[in-house]
Amino acid sequence: MPTPPIHRPQPQAPAPAPTLTPAPDETVSRLRAAFLTGRTRPAAWRKDQLRALRTLLIEHQEEFAAALHADLGKSGTEAHLTETGFVVNEIDHTLRHLDRWLRPRRVPVPLSLAPARARTVREPLGTVLIISPWNYPLMLALAPLVGALAAGNCAVIKPSELAPATSALLADRLPRALDPEAVAVVEGAVPETTALLEQPFDHIFYTGNGTVGRVVMAAAARRLTPVTLELGGKSPAVVEPGADLRAAARRIAWGKFMNAGQSCTAPDYVLAIGDTAPALERHLTTAIREMYGTDPAASADYGQVVNDRHFDRLLALLEDREGGGGNGLGGARLVTGGEHDRTTRYLAPTVLADVAPDAPVMREEIFGPILPIVRVPDLDAAIAFITARDKPLALYGFTASGRTKRRLATETSSGALAFGVPNAHLSVPGLPFGGVGESGLGSYHGAHSIDTFSHTKAVLDKPLLLDPLRAVYPPYTRTKDRLLRRFL
Ligand code: NAD
Repeated sequence: MPTPPIHRPQPQAPAPAPTLTPAPDETVSRLRAAFLTGRTRPAAWRKDQLRALRTLLIEHQEEFAAALHADLGKSGTEAHLTETGFVVNEIDHTLRHLDRWLRPRRVPVPLSLAPARARTVREPLGTVLIISPWNYPLMLALAPLVGALAAGNCAVIKPSELAPATSALLADRLPRALDPEAVAVVEGAVPETTALLEQPFDHIFYTGNGTVGRVVMAAAARRLTPVTLELGGKSPAVVEPGADLRAAARRIAWGKFMNAGQSCTAPDYVLAIGDTAPALERHLTTAIREMYGTDPAASADYGQVVNDRHFDRLLALLEDREGGGGNGLGGARLVTGGEHDRTTRYLAPTVLADVAPDAPVMREEIFGPILPIVRVPDLDAAIAFITARDKPLALYGFTASGRTKRRLATETSSGALAFGVPNAHLSVPGLPFGGVGESGLGSYHGAHSIDTFSHTKAVLDKPLLLDPLRAVYPPYTRTKDRLLRRFL
């Protein structure tokens, strides 16, 4: 067992669930009333809010980094890269393009309706609920908030109780930095979220697992509230012979072991085509050593597992306690890693080889630092493997072949498809971020957030002065009937 590193915060007893003051119904009523005053509609208000959020993140980045370190052992660099800096970029992109995104769009009117003008306008939905998870507890609460505010909504944020330091900081800072009549943070766990879900919202934006996603959708159905579900799943990385395996291994290791494997878009497993597995195993081992040293427990850049429940779940997968495989891994071979320390919730970056397609580690989203490699003979087998399972949030291809790229693009379905690099598609502000099927419903980021948090209203304007429409009013004479059939 490794000695607990100095930087790794010791687990603490869970904080008592905070009491809600005021009650969720009062908070939601207050925000709904504020929305009806129209204060959130002007573009100037929206931009002011975004600028205020930007200032908060920049001026208090050390404080946010400390909270993220306390919750997940995140390094300052990773906290900037994937949390505060990410949201600041999202704000900058939104401020740059918001006026254009909000502009009404002219739509052609058929001749039979002339003279008239038609356009679409973006209308805020009202008061939205954002429920976020613990793995990127700042980014996954605030990136949707950027879209909600940019689209002119009020918003209630329910951060994850499993990242209590970040949750408390958001609850303290956001209402002071932003318009408190329009933005509220409600802390808490299942009872508080359940109470919120009983309130009338105009949209519910949920990020987390599919089981709770179903609870959210069922609650939303009672009021026909639209939902966005940002879920997870097993995102494969397909590696083909002919690809630069050293570079592929580095990129896969970076995407997988960031945040100790607790990223929704992390490569969940590798499908190693043909004879790529042995070289990949070697290169992955080297890449892990280069990134985190020979003892990752001592690396300030390596995170920790979020809580004991997840730690025990990951260890059970690793030891295949239920499966009872001959070597303790359900037949799989331990390439590197496996060291662990429950007191610090440390699990080393771990690679498993020769993993059976039905091994326990292949039955559920791993969401931790364990990377199984499954061998498949060819691309056909890789595609069959992927399409036989739930549609993933992301699919990654490491190949030098244009034909393989085309085949993966057309013969598989996933929230996103990226070649040569995992996770990075999130940082392309023009790309929608979301899943398909079991990995989610709807998307956001940049202009796609405006789509998600607005109603696109159809507006038709026909002057009353001229009335060629008389031709379509009853009574329908034979002449009118002929005219209508000819021109409409
Ligand atoms: P979590 O446990 O923090 O739950 C997410 C939110 O749901 C929290 O705010 C929590 O309070 C609330 N919640 C939990 N149980 C509830 C219940 N019974 N009723 C109502 N609300 C409830 O986070 P998690 O679900 O463990 O997050 C991990 C999952 O999220 C993984 O599957 C991961 O892939 C997925 N994820 C997806 C994305 C994405 O953007 N698509 C991002 C991050 C994580």
